[in-house]
Amino acid sequence: MSHSRLGNWVQGAATAAVGDQWLDNLDPATGQIVNQIPRSQAEDVEMAVASARVCMAQGGGGQGGAGGLSSVQRGDLLFALAEGLESRLEDFAGAESQDTGKPLKLAREVDIPRAVDNLRFFAGEAKQDRTESFPMAKAENIVVWQPLGVVALITPWNFPLHLLTWKLGPAVATGNAVVAKPSEITPTSATMLAELATEIGAPAGLFNILHGLGTEVGSALVEHEQVAAISFTGGTLTGKAIAASAAPRLKKLGLELGGKNPSLVFADCDFERTVRGCARAAFFNSGQVCLCGSRILVEASLHDRFVEALCVEAEAYSEKNGPLISQTHRDKVETYLEIARQDGAKVACGGSRCGPEEGAFHQATVLTQLAHDSRVAQEEIFGPVVSVHAFQDEAEALALANDSLYGLAASVWTADSARARRLAENLESGMVWINAWNRRDLRVPFGGMKQSGLGREGGRWSMEFFSQARNLCLV
Ligand code: NAD
Repeated sequence: MSHSRLGNWVQGAATAAVGDQWLDNLDPATGQIVNQIPRSQAEDVEMAVASARVCMAQGGGGQGGAGGLSSVQRGDLLFALAEGLESRLEDFAGAESQDTGKPLKLAREVDIPRAVDNLRFFAGEAKQDRTESFPMAKAENIVVWQPLGVVALITPWNFPLHLLTWKLGPAVATGNAVVAKPSEITPTSATMLAELATEIGAPAGLFNILHGLGTEVGSALVEHEQVAAISFTGGTLTGKAIAASAAPRLKKLGLELGGKNPSLVFADCDFERTVRGCARAAFFNSGQVCLCGSRILVEASLHDRFVEALCVEAEAYSEKNGPLISQTHRDKVETYLEIARQDGAKVACGGSRCGPEEGAFHQATVLTQLAHDSRVAQEEIFGPVVSVHAFQDEAEALALANDSLYGLAASVWTADSARARRLAENLESGMVWINAWNRRDLRVPFGGMKQSGLGREGGRWSMEFFSQARNLCLV
């Protein structure tokens, strides 16, 4: 049986990989082949980078943007792309749901609207005048921002279009030409977006897409001498491999990596709201969110009541969640559950496969009595598994929360605002929410401390990443 084939997108048109090799893209809910994608290699990277360079050259160098577009035109283009995406929301949601297995409702209400928001937000940023002036005695310093050139965007599978547009928006807003490498597991929406961009008039070569394996086309893209910067979102180990390759080439590098995020729950919290919030933090998108609250630290006096209520919520998530991204990933989650059992943990609820046999479904699972130094409480599982640990006082809660190699996000659940403030200041994580989880504002910095990443995205942090400041001193 022949399957539909998705192209790379180079020079404003669909192309096969030079080697004409193809990879199957599977729907994790059914195990069926959705389509096939090019298995691109270094020679395909050459073509995509050449296409982006030609587009860059149209700007004439210096502050000139890719395709010769002014910053206002870039803003208009991103705005039109947002409009186009919104008008085709159903098509994109369908593709995203099929590639990731997530329920259509989630793709329709979260993934695609967020992608639209990202593009619209950076359309606005593109139009801001970022020039600054620093007058001094008998001279004036003018600080101007110029694009970096050809930039590589490498993205994961959990929110494919949302995370791609989170990078594409600022990369285009600041005048760069892009070569994007989406996850080989969730490729479809990226090519659809590139096609849409061409339809609405994006210059050829502004937005190129390469499909294929990370260790083949991904690493060739990172190694390419003409790629000035790499913006990567994915696992910490991959991030380290990319950093090792980029460092000797002195490439600008942004890394958004994994997390093992704590939710700190105090006995004075608003109980119902906290249980709902912690369950959402643990199980939303089947626990496949970098920000997931996968360690819950609970004041000892509340522990048993909290676990009981959390399990009620967990059962509801087991009913409505989609599958994990693949059978292989579910195997990995099950390996962690086996380690947890060996380490003496109790499965308070969940713990098994569920749903149709052909899909990679797994129950939302709550573990208790797990030592905090177990691998299961220290390593990122990236599935619907949360461990609950009791603490005696605020100092112990903080020590446990910070006892992690990761430092992406944390949430604190308490009625005591002074305590919340103290903890927020001392938690080792890039983002802290008080009595909430994953409230987003596109203007604020997003990113991790420790092994959760390097650099920040969001608002002006993204704009700074994708451009370079130059000082012109006029006497
Ligand atoms: P991954 O690291 O396996 O892959 C991410 C991307 O990198 C894919 O496109 C992959 O093909 C590519 N890649 C793999 N090896 C490469 C190499 N050697 N060189 C270049 N590219 C390579 O991650 P994943 O499994 O797709 O995603 C899950 C991970 O992403 C989790 O760890 C999660 O926490 C993280 N994540 C982080 C954030 C954040 O903002 N911090 C957001 C979402 C996901």
